[in-house]
Amino acid sequence: MLALNMFLRKDTCRIMDELLNEILASNEQFLRTTHLALIDHAPRKHLAVVTCMDCRLLEMFEPALGLKRGDAVELRTAGATISQPERERAANDLIRSLAGAIYLLGVREVMVVGHTQCGLSRIEPATLSGSMQALGIDPDGLIEHEGLGNLDGLVRWIGAFSDIHLNVKETVQVIRSSPYLPKLPVHGLVIDITTGKLEVVEAANH
Ligand SMILES: [Zn+2]
Repeated sequence: MLALNMFLRKDTCRIMDELLNEILASNEQFLRTTHLALIDHAPRKHLAVVTCMDCRLLEMFEPALGLKRGDAVELRTAGATISQPERERAANDLIRSLAGAIYLLGVREVMVVGHTQCGLSRIEPATLSGSMQALGIDPDGLIEHEGLGNLDGLVRWIGAFSDIHLNVKETVQVIRSSPYLPKLPVHGLVIDITTGKLEVVEAANH
């Protein structure tokens, strides 16, 4: 296990150096060719969009919603969700960010946009615990220390769900009922990751 960890660290460092250099080179190119317009940080559409971290959403998500730079604040969590242990009273980081967007940036409408084929809808507990062990984290020790109960508790902690439509509806409900947030329209949608088609699964009553 120790040898595997050392290999992973060395290999990961090499890849990170290459990636960092690649990104810095891209940034130089970007600065040479692009001049960004100066715009305000308050979103023009008074909209906050919550979505997933899935890499397939890059360069696809905003055009699919017709959103341009400055239109909306965008919040991403794994699964576009709040994990089960964090839902009660919901004082977590997503709610904190929405509070900032609402109270400080003028957001007045929220859309939660899950997506099909989400990685969090297909988590194998054994895969998760095996990956943790390979990277030097003991799942059993963590479960005991954090009071997660068992492997299912660990999977709930990471935010796994089985039905994206149901999960979007539940996340909408958590946001709507958070004591930290005012009553605002909160919609729930699912985007097809292969086509970009949006489906409304929970429309807010205005
Ligand atoms: Zn996802």
